[in-house]
Amino acid sequence: PLVLGIETSCDETGVGIVRGETLLVDAIASSVDLHARFGGVVPEVASRAHLEAMVPTIQRACDQAGIALRDVDAIAVTSGPGLAGTLMVGVAAAKALALSLGKPLYGVNHLAAHVAVDIVEHGPLPEPVLALLVSGGHSSLLLVPDVTQDVRSLGSTIDDAAGEAFDKVARVLGLPFPGGPHIDRAARDGQIAIDFPRGLTSGRDMERHRFDFSFSGLKTAVSRWVEGQRAAGAEISVPDVAASFQEAVVDVLTRKAILACQDNGVEHLQIGGGVAANSRLRAMAQARCDSAGIALRVPRPGLCTDNGAMVAALGAQLVAKGREPSALDLPADSSMPVTEVTA
Ligand code: ATP
Ligand code: MG
Ligand code: FE
Repeated sequence: PLVLGIETSCDETGVGIVRGETLLVDAIASSVDLHARFGGVVPEVASRAHLEAMVPTIQRACDQAGIALRDVDAIAVTSGPGLAGTLMVGVAAAKALALSLGKPLYGVNHLAAHVAVDIVEHGPLPEPVLALLVSGGHSSLLLVPDVTQDVRSLGSTIDDAAGEAFDKVARVLGLPFPGGPHIDRAARDGQIAIDFPRGLTSGRDMERHRFDFSFSGLKTAVSRWVEGQRAAGAEISVPDVAASFQEAVVDVLTRKAILACQDNGVEHLQIGGGVAANSRLRAMAQARCDSAGIALRVPRPGLCTDNGAMVAALGAQLVAKGREPSALDLPADSSMPVTEVTA
């Protein structure tokens, strides 16, 4: 099936077009530069930017794919989770398209789409697959029977998401927003010189929170360390702090992901979400999966962060597997649970 997907859950207006398991185009207009000076995404600003970018981005995607809108078999859209106001812009646009073209509409879960995008990168996903979903708002270990069916959450963060921790620590270090890519880059010139805490990995925590994560203590530990150095008048090496912080996050993520595979007898690990773009996470996951005999799949960095291709990819799977389309009055659900695939 030929599916057009629309993503507006945060600050990226994404329009992707997928034919079956092949990505035809991934068009993105980002409002990230408008938010940078506020140190975070401003919902009102993002909503307005989506409104302005929507029609031109759809047009550009169709032009680049060499298709006409009437050629598509279905429209897919992120119905949640995300910012209520920005989601509404995408959902309204998708409804208008589906209605005027007379095509089915699929409201999909943004988080399931972060996993499904791997299909247009590496082909069909093994069933089941263990997914480590690490993004700006979520950090979860998911058991995915197939991407069109509701997933089982094995655990998730009990406080900050991994991406949120990257962004907060970047701010402490005076790096620009969003901080993840800046920490990644700074860490390449740094040494893992500081032993920061690995949240929820002690013996007792592993009993109660085996597959949960916690990153707020780590963020506090980094802030305290930086403040301590400053108070002592000592020089702070941003690359060293970045590398040491990143190592602590990546160590816990990969350790627990592999343990989850082993506990559940799953031999395939997929990593998705913006933090999956992190070079150290990709390298450590590959090394540890190799030693554990687990096959690893991570899409290219550009498909890890928010985009329209991921929504189209999941939509194409839903059409191919004959799943019911959503109702035309489908809501934008800002707190859509990670376990639900469609609205
Ligand atoms: P969610 O998917 O939970 O709704 P989101 O859509 O806002 O959240 P994504 O776009 O999936 O989040 O990911 C953005 C996050 O990924 C940001 O926190 C960003 O700092 C982080 N990120 C992006 N690239 C990297 C990188 N190379 N290293 C670490 N973090 C990164
Ligand atoms: Mg973004
Ligand atoms: Fe996302």
